[in-house]
Amino acid sequence: MSRSGEFCPRCGDEIEANLDARPTAPGAAGPRDGDSVLCDDCYFAEFDLVDAPDRIDVRVCSRCGAVHRGNRWVDVGAQDYTDIAVEEVSEALGVHLEATDVSWEVAPEQVDENNIRMHCQFSGVVRGTLVSEEVVVPVKIARQTCDRCGRIAGGSYAAIVQVRADERTPTDEEEEIAREVAEAYIADREATGDRNAFITEVDEVDEGLNMKISTNQMGQGIAKRIVDRLGGSFEDYETLVTEDGDGNEVYRVTFAVRLPRYRAGEIIDPEDGDGPVLVRSVRGNLKGTRLATGEDYEASFEDGDAPEARRLGTREDARETTVVAVEDDNAVQVLDPETYAAETIPRPDYFDPAADDVPVIKHREGLHILPDAAAGADED
Ligand SMILES: [Zn+2]
Ligand SMILES: [Zn+2]
Repeated sequence: MSRSGEFCPRCGDEIEANLDARPTAPGAAGPRDGDSVLCDDCYFAEFDLVDAPDRIDVRVCSRCGAVHRGNRWVDVGAQDYTDIAVEEVSEALGVHLEATDVSWEVAPEQVDENNIRMHCQFSGVVRGTLVSEEVVVPVKIARQTCDRCGRIAGGSYAAIVQVRADERTPTDEEEEIAREVAEAYIADREATGDRNAFITEVDEVDEGLNMKISTNQMGQGIAKRIVDRLGGSFEDYETLVTEDGDGNEVYRVTFAVRLPRYRAGEIIDPEDGDGPVLVRSVRGNLKGTRLATGEDYEASFEDGDAPEARRLGTREDARETTVVAVEDDNAVQVLDPETYAAETIPRPDYFDPAADDVPVIKHREGLHILPDAAAGADED
């Protein structure tokens, strides 16, 4: 041992001089007591590799899995609180700055439903010596209700989105889509960390769907997206609900969505002499296909998505029937699917002369050939 001429201020022993040879991190300050260097014995006597809290309390929302951090709730979508406990403990642990080659492991031991003992195993190199340490941090999971879930449970909402349809009730599919649109909108807002975004309640009523939404702005956003997706339009109106404690008037806003009178896949007769139309789209002006010729039909600007017309059925009413003979460019003979009598009917341009069977719709005006579902796929 070479002599350094320095002495430990704690115990008075002379300190070994080969400090420079030790594989400590570059730039790491030597262990000191004030300005003086301690000997290894004194240094390790009070050395803690790991700085750990005595215990950790984790507050989680038992309804939505949010975790309380700092002074607010954060959505982490937790199903498994053990993962949350591991994460919280890992963040709370500190390793001594002078340690290098640090490795560590955190192993949860479930004590009961709400208590986890977290075994934290650390090792690292300090002053050329491999040091290891185990600490056990008790974690208590406190199941609570976050502010948002509390508001939902309390029935809080600011807007209602009503989904209705013009002269009919919305179909199950339309209601399903409207609901998906609302849920996707709220999920997008939640993804940005907005904890004010929620749907309090979805009610299926005779006339359609009612959805209670947390804020007016989101109610409007949802109504707009439903119309973008399904056509139609919406209006909003305010309802005075109550006065709050300070005598301020509190309003709720209803966004009333009216879906178009006809829907894609419906067969209507505008009674303009050119025969029935298969509706392809109701976004903007109603657009469709004439069943007698295959030509395009578009409602006038004034009529928009609701021209005066009689409803004849929907694509779902179509039945396959046999083609008996192709008569000429304008006529084809098929079997009536109900009476099996041969009928001469109009030949639209989408009719495939090689086809043995075609889908037809029978209505009070007679029989018409429909385009194949795939070929005539509507834009909606
Ligand atoms: Zn000493
Ligand atoms: Zn919650």
